[in-house]
Amino acid sequence: MRHIARYKTDVAHPDYSTTVPHACGDYRVQDVGSANPRFIRLTMGTLPSNKEARNRAAIPVAAIFQPMASLRPDEDVVPLVDLGEHGPVRCTRCHGYMNPFCRFVENGSQWLCNLCNHSNETREDYFNHLDMRGIRVDKLERPELCKGTVEYVATPTYIARPPQHPAFLFVVDVSQKARKGGLLRQFIQTMQQVVGVVPPETRLGVITYDAQVHFHVLTKEDQQLHR
Ligand SMILES: [Zn+2]
Repeated sequence: MRHIARYKTDVAHPDYSTTVPHACGDYRVQDVGSANPRFIRLTMGTLPSNKEARNRAAIPVAAIFQPMASLRPDEDVVPLVDLGEHGPVRCTRCHGYMNPFCRFVENGSQWLCNLCNHSNETREDYFNHLDMRGIRVDKLERPELCKGTVEYVATPTYIARPPQHPAFLFVVDVSQKARKGGLLRQFIQTMQQVVGVVPPETRLGVITYDAQVHFHVLTKEDQQLHR
């Protein structure tokens, strides 16, 4: 089954279009199997079909990824997929993730990776039947089978180390010019506000510099002193 992205450029086109909207334009995207271009955008809207055409085009194929890009308020939020203790379904050969372009065969017991064409066995907890058209009956109920972008709940195997507390390191210009211009005073005022709102476990660090770089060791005693 072929999926065609649908974009809506509010200004120029009243209807949905399959042309990737201009990066600076005002557009709304409905994810029907392809990622919103806010998350991933290629340097060309149409890919050359063969090597010769690619050489003639002389445009490098590159992609800009912004996984945390802000969406318009009227766009759907990225769905969260929780596949339990077994985690995301991935190709055993190339480790590609299950996506709308993977194809289920053998009444759902096998699936073909669209990236490397490897035939994978459908794991037991993920099995479902196919309809008359050979499409999984739960396709529209599973975001990873019908959306271009999903978020996964990561299982412990994806976590190399436990989540760390947030840390912020501020690098501050303390040269005479900066001090005279009020930059340092402004920084101190801002920091006093920041310290009041960040979670208590947050680690804050400060490096100051003028002609030299100064590192500061802030101990608990210092905190008492400056409070
Ligand atoms: Zn694969």
